[in-house]
Amino acid sequence: MNINNNIKKILIDEKTLEKRIEEIAKEINEDYYDKNPVMICLLKGSISYFAHLCEKISIPLEYEFLRASSYHGATSSGQIKLLHVPTIPLKNRHIIIVEDIIDTGLTLSAIKKVMLEMAPASLEITTLLDKPSRRLTSEINPKYVGFTIPDEFVVGFGLDYNEEYRNLPYIGILDEAVYKKN
Ligand code: 5GP
Repeated sequence: MNINNNIKKILIDEKTLEKRIEEIAKEINEDYYDKNPVMICLLKGSISYFAHLCEKISIPLEYEFLRASSYHGATSSGQIKLLHVPTIPLKNRHIIIVEDIIDTGLTLSAIKKVMLEMAPASLEITTLLDKPSRRLTSEINPKYVGFTIPDEFVVGFGLDYNEEYRNLPYIGILDEAVYKKN
């Protein structure tokens, strides 16, 4: 089986992703040149964006990983669970949370709350994809947004459907037949 065959449409191709990620990296280089930020990767979906973005940033920075679960399959379970908290002290540090996609914003709201309790010097969010039409909270205002996308369920570049499709090098819309099969 070739996972590319289950993609109905490529929404954002590899080249477009790389170009935009480079632009965001440049902005972060300028905004954080003397701040030694801690880049927080939200597992598992942000892994590709995190890696590509951090590799293009040329100022000193540190990596941290965090895990929260909110989705099962293509619909929200409405449940948010923090499964892993940071291991390096974040007090007085400049934090950049790196997210794959913001949909309702509820996952990030929960994560942001935990991060703020750690008294960072600053906290900003970058998300590769944003679906503002689905937002259920006004607390989440990402500083760096890769692409604003319509209300479609997308996979690839780290994003999954039941743990598959993360390894696609582009962002694509999954064929409905895949949902119907499951
Ligand atoms: P939120 O709490 O903002 O509704 O959900 C954010 C999380 O839901 C993302 O980190 C991602 O794991 C998942 N999610 C939301 N929309 C999509 C989508 O279109 N595709 C995939 N694969 N995951 C999504």
